[in-house]
Amino acid sequence: MSAFRKTPWRRIGRVTLLSLLLAACGGGGGGGGGGGGSTAVSNTPLPNPVTSNSFSITVAPDGQSRVINAPCPITQNLGDARNDGLRIAKVSWLQVVELDATDAETRLTGAKPLRVRVDVLASSSGVSRPATRQLQVFNPATSTCSTITLTAPATVPTSSNQENLTTAYVGDIDGSLVRAGMSIGIVVDDSSGRSATEADRTFAVFSPRVTTSTTQNVRIIPLTFQNQTASTPSPEVVNDLLERMFPITTVNTVVGAPVAIDNLATSVGGLLCAVGSITSSLGINLLPSCSPAVGSVDLFRDVLDRVNDVCLSVNAGNSNPRTATKCIGLLPDNIIFKESLDQNGTYVGLAFVGGITLIARDFTTVDLQGVTNVYSASHWITDDALTVSHEFGHLMDLDHANCGGAPGLDPRLYSDGRLGGVAGYDNIRGYYFSGGYRLSGQLLFADVMSYCTKEWTSDRGYLSMLNYLVPSAEVQTASAARVSGGETSPRWVKASRRNGQWQLTPVPFVPSTLNASALSAELLTSEGPVTVPLLAPELSLPLPASVTDRGPYFFNAGDHDISAIRLLRNGTLLQGGLTLAP
Ligand SMILES: [Zn+2]
Repeated sequence: MSAFRKTPWRRIGRVTLLSLLLAACGGGGGGGGGGGGSTAVSNTPLPNPVTSNSFSITVAPDGQSRVINAPCPITQNLGDARNDGLRIAKVSWLQVVELDATDAETRLTGAKPLRVRVDVLASSSGVSRPATRQLQVFNPATSTCSTITLTAPATVPTSSNQENLTTAYVGDIDGSLVRAGMSIGIVVDDSSGRSATEADRTFAVFSPRVTTSTTQNVRIIPLTFQNQTASTPSPEVVNDLLERMFPITTVNTVVGAPVAIDNLATSVGGLLCAVGSITSSLGINLLPSCSPAVGSVDLFRDVLDRVNDVCLSVNAGNSNPRTATKCIGLLPDNIIFKESLDQNGTYVGLAFVGGITLIARDFTTVDLQGVTNVYSASHWITDDALTVSHEFGHLMDLDHANCGGAPGLDPRLYSDGRLGGVAGYDNIRGYYFSGGYRLSGQLLFADVMSYCTKEWTSDRGYLSMLNYLVPSAEVQTASAARVSGGETSPRWVKASRRNGQWQLTPVPFVPSTLNASALSAELLTSEGPVTVPLLAPELSLPLPASVTDRGPYFFNAGDHDISAIRLLRNGTLLQGGLTLAP
């Protein structure tokens, strides 16, 4: 059982002005990184070679050149001091977010394409771009080196612009080379030679920590309500959305068969209002008329549970939510969800934290092609697609970031719910942007796990999700089998109350985040009664107790031979005589 965490949620008003959102998000400040103009990186050169390894250096007998004996050997000409201050000032990996190459926490997602940002600076302006400006990538599988030429401005800048890549030296490394044991050398110089001390600053070698590649299977489940089925995006659109925002190498999306939710909606409390008038047999108006129909949070939860059942059925043989196929249930436009009819805004997404299932409004496209300025107030990704990314972040075991009133905060994310001033990188659009950028004095970007606009994955979120997907033990072991967890295999049972009756259904696995509850199950076994706790999955939405009281809960039936089950709340009988569904 995991630690208590408050339940997160996500609520978005469909029509919201940016100014209101910014006001609501408040001035968190403290995100680091100033806005406006270029920001100089440290004038202190990186210690070289910047790596956990150290390499021997072989100086030629004539003293005119030397070789750095890195995995890809680097040859440098030596000569008189140039006093131009040419130096590699900073190296960053761009994989969804900017990651500092010298940070011990940095990990890369294996086999995922990698853009490299190198800030090469000189002490005075007018120094020409070095003829040699390369990445030298060592592939441990073949023990070969690949040379990639860095694009660069015509003259070496004296300070770097952290808001874009205009002053940076940039190279792209193919995903096939991004693997454990790789080495990345960076060399910038011309053939004229320079002093050994100066030459020390014109190369750097890194051995980044790289995980195994991560593959995520995703199933889109279109939902049908009153003969209207949700629209669905093409699998490629979903693959691109999730690959660009998450530490996932390859997303494989399929679109499954539609699932009707009408039977759930007609249960007691399912709808707050409906299209047309609904009257009882005595002619009494049961529900107000509205269009689209408005579902209750009860129904919202039921729909998630229903989609989760479908998702479990497509995960036969899987035993772990982390590696399971994730399911995205998409809602048609003829139903929205509110806590009450006079509530402003609607609920647009719900998920189990650390689970396998999310529901969200339907969408067909992700990119707004009309938004071409990365720093404009509008996002280049649609709200509905961002909602899916937000809820998908919950499936990656993240809670909320503290912006826009989001509850249930994840202490691993930035305390102001922003990006910590760290840059993001959208490889589909080719957009690089500073997380510290300010528009009208307010930080523009926020963590995708917050309720603020304009959202992107934070570096902290990226690394947290990567740690979830690939636990540290698997780093650097390209073909290691996953650890099975060690304990005897649990036998999980889901308990849900539908139409006043508790139903017990065996399930192959449970969400990774479970909280204690007031409920327990008394298992009647041949060895006597055994009481086990009922655990509540963490929802991304703090639903009223009257809703969550109905489950779903999970308990571990172990290897007991069970004749009957009683459910109790704080020791008081809720329902007895229950048996496990086959
Ligand atoms: Zn949320």
